[in-house]
Amino acid sequence: MKDFADVIAFHGHVCGGLALGYKACELAAQELGLDFSEDEEIVALTETDSCTVDAIQVLFGCTAGKGNLFVNNWGKTAFSFYRRDNNTSIRLVAIPDAVPKDPRMNELRPKIMRGDATEGENVEYHHLVHEHVDQILSIPAEKLFEIKETTLPLPSEASIYYNVMCSVCGEHVAEGRAKQVDGKYVCIPCQKK
Ligand SMILES: [Zn+2]
Ligand SMILES: [Zn+2]
Repeated sequence: MKDFADVIAFHGHVCGGLALGYKACELAAQELGLDFSEDEEIVALTETDSCTVDAIQVLFGCTAGKGNLFVNNWGKTAFSFYRRDNNTSIRLVAIPDAVPKDPRMNELRPKIMRGDATEGENVEYHHLVHEHVDQILSIPAEKLFEIKETTLPLPSEASIYYNVMCSVCGEHVAEGRAKQVDGKYVCIPCQKK
């Protein structure tokens, strides 16, 4: 399996969310025997759209393009993983404050984001982030997540559709995505107009 350095390279920066996503994958891999998904063998369904999701993309090959990644912006740090070959699945729910953040991090964060932190504050912040990440990475994944049964059904495999022409804009659109209005196809953007 790829490692945390690969995840950082993909994501662009080091952060606690990325480390948490990495640990979720570690636990899911251990529980379900998962490895990199070249096609749609593994399906991931997340209940958050945070940085965590990028770890799943890199480690399990669950991507937007392959249709085996479903990102829901429900504001819950929870991840469901499914194996299509043997129908096993698992839902991991992050235990709140399993690795508490140094309050100083939350204090500095708005300043860093606004770009008006001093050089000293920048150094301090990044030091705290790295410490936080190291803590997450070094504790057993079982201490970070509650293991539950999946509650949402396994999404169906990506469909392949024929193209039809939208009667409004004249552009090609997958048939399954177009709506028929008075017997004519209309694409989603045109329906919204
Ligand atoms: Zn991040
Ligand atoms: Zn159209």
